[in-house]
Amino acid sequence: MTDLPCFHAPDTDAHDPQFWMLRGVPLPNKETAERARRLLDGIAAAGLTVQDAPVTDRAAMHRIHTPRYLRFLETAWEEWQQAPGAGPEVVANLHPQKAHQTYPSGITGRAGWHMADTGCPLGRHTWAAALRGVDTALAAVAAVMQGAGAAYALCRPPGHHADADTAAGHCFLNNSAIAAEALRAAHDRVAVLDIDVHHGNGTQEIFYDRADVLTLSVHADPDAFYPFYLGHAHETGTGAGEGFNLNLPLPLGSGDAPWLDAIDRALERVRGHGAGALVLALGLDAHENDPFRGLTVTTPGFARAAARIRALGLPTVIVQEGGYLSEDLTHNLAAFLRGWQGRDWNGRG
Ligand code: ZN
Repeated sequence: MTDLPCFHAPDTDAHDPQFWMLRGVPLPNKETAERARRLLDGIAAAGLTVQDAPVTDRAAMHRIHTPRYLRFLETAWEEWQQAPGAGPEVVANLHPQKAHQTYPSGITGRAGWHMADTGCPLGRHTWAAALRGVDTALAAVAAVMQGAGAAYALCRPPGHHADADTAAGHCFLNNSAIAAEALRAAHDRVAVLDIDVHHGNGTQEIFYDRADVLTLSVHADPDAFYPFYLGHAHETGTGAGEGFNLNLPLPLGSGDAPWLDAIDRALERVRGHGAGALVLALGLDAHENDPFRGLTVTTPGFARAAARIRALGLPTVIVQEGGYLSEDLTHNLAAFLRGWQGRDWNGRG
């Protein structure tokens, strides 16, 4: 059996967001602590064990995110509580366009500045959990740097929609980007492959003008799907980063064959980049029964994807991104992890 260390920080369960809104209707948030329990079951079902992520040096986080954004995340909830009539979670109700606008000092204005949408409510424990999510990703980085072929980080909250200065879509600190930045200490070139059903817009933005970190994303076409404004094929990077971003959007409802073909195209590009290490931003929400219903990937599809990505032969940090509550969430992670180990998706092989 392949050595595949797995990490998690149980204290991230304290972040259990409530607010969410779709087409003007407030709904329960989907990024619940229950996700972690089901994903832990998936690790166990794949015959793997979980280690607690230690608190670690977060220098790479400070290179990825701006000081004022980190200060906002740390202090926003306390300030929000002091505002008259404030609800239990920080939820932005303003969406500034930023160009030519001035950074405000008040909490309502700063919430709008640093939160791209209403899908990232910030509660009492969000900052502490987000930091521990970073620790989890960095524990997997450390394992890989110490010689593990790959390591899996069960990060909550997820991170790939957060850019240097902005929270969005359940994400606050970009765990995958921070992992890539940390891997740069040992590798001149790294790649981040994002196979979440949603485009990895935050990760793309963070590395958009850099040639050392190749970003690639396979996702449902953003023309009518979150994150809507980024994730198109024509976005290829800028400046020194021109040619170092590859988006492979798929028509809504696409199943295993086009999804795996797109992953193959991305892997070919990773080989061409000469990457010394890979971060895999692993969303399981491309599954046919995920509540977001963007693509129709099957459970065995995740095992096939894992086998193909592992065949690259690169040291790989696997960072959990999306994947929401359905009967299949546990099975999908188990199938992926079994596929990574060269085993049959349903555990029989
Ligand atoms: Zn997603």
